[in-house]
Amino acid sequence: MTPGTKTAPAAAPPETDAPAVRLTGVGKAFGTTRAVADVTLDIRRNEFFSILGPSGCGKTTLMRMITGFETPGEGTVELGGVPANTVPPHKRDLNMLFQSYALFPHLSVADNVAFELKVRRSRPKAEIGDAVREALALVRLTGYGDRSIAQLSGGQRQRVAIARALIGRPSLLLLDEPLGALDQKLRAEMQLELKKIQREVGVTFVTVTHDQEEALTMSDRIAVMDGGRVLQVDTPEAIYERPATRFVADFIGTSNFLTGTLDATGLAVPGLGRLPVPDGHGLAPGTEAHLAVRPENVHLAGADDAPSPRADLLDGTLQQIVYLGSATRYHLTLADGTDLIAESRGRGHGGLSVGAGVRAGWDPARSRLLAE
Ligand code: ATP
Repeated sequence: MTPGTKTAPAAAPPETDAPAVRLTGVGKAFGTTRAVADVTLDIRRNEFFSILGPSGCGKTTLMRMITGFETPGEGTVELGGVPANTVPPHKRDLNMLFQSYALFPHLSVADNVAFELKVRRSRPKAEIGDAVREALALVRLTGYGDRSIAQLSGGQRQRVAIARALIGRPSLLLLDEPLGALDQKLRAEMQLELKKIQREVGVTFVTVTHDQEEALTMSDRIAVMDGGRVLQVDTPEAIYERPATRFVADFIGTSNFLTGTLDATGLAVPGLGRLPVPDGHGLAPGTEAHLAVRPENVHLAGADDAPSPRADLLDGTLQQIVYLGSATRYHLTLADGTDLIAESRGRGHGGLSVGAGVRAGWDPARSRLLAE
């Protein structure tokens, strides 16, 4: 398969309610390295789905098993309800978008976009021009057809690659770190643009990324991976607000962790005392657990402030104040030496200074108790 192209599927997939992708117990080892282990998940039709995790967590291997470039060692891959383990990549009703774009520099924008249709000869010549115009309009490049690739900016090249990948209307588009080559500002723009295009075209998008902000911005749902396993599949909001494990809470955004042993009245944290825990955590007394608290949920009060019921759990010393523009971040050390981060919107607490003693606290309902 030429990058960015595909051949027509052997047969049109049956019209069913089956998910776009169903992975059941999928695993893959390379020698003694277990790249992917026991992954079971569904990717729904027309959703923007991201596979997110740190380098080496197995996300590329998982994606390659969906595209057919890798065969699962265990488990099954189904595409649109059809078992696909042994279907070669060019017979799958999907297309790929690579970080490098893989555009042909000697061809015009229009010829790059039309490439797949011409190779497949699946449509009469007269229709190809219309399809190219439609695809360029979709990515907001109307009028750019005659330009050469060299005359385009990075963001425009990205759009050409998207138009080329979508012109054949695959059921599924897989995007490997799609915005990795763009600078920060363009990335942020293209995140919104990609989401908009996905909505308009109604194709299932699956991205692979290590960038949590990108995944949160673009996705309907995210699968967070670590060590070959999928730890959580959820909406961006649920992943951020209700992480299932300490790894997820740490990888997505910033979290404070206070570790101790659960008893009937709270979490006994050595050196810090007993902390209240949120209701409905479902863990048994005696369990070793981590209380995860987001910095934006930590309230601070200075020694001279009136006692605050929101900041009455722990004593600390302010080590650093970092002004971030839209927020101010406070780095504290607690009595046992643990670091704690608090964040306030805007300029934060005017009265606090480095070296000062502070009280910190949070609403237990805004914390999360995690066993692993
Ligand atoms: P990155 O973000 O760095 O691309 P990743 O999350 O995509 O990482 P994979 O490329 O899927 O991770 O790799 C998962 C593990 O499997 C790694 O330990 C990697 O070294 C190993 N691995 C991947 N492909 C092969 C291969 N063909 N042969 C041997 N080991 C491999």
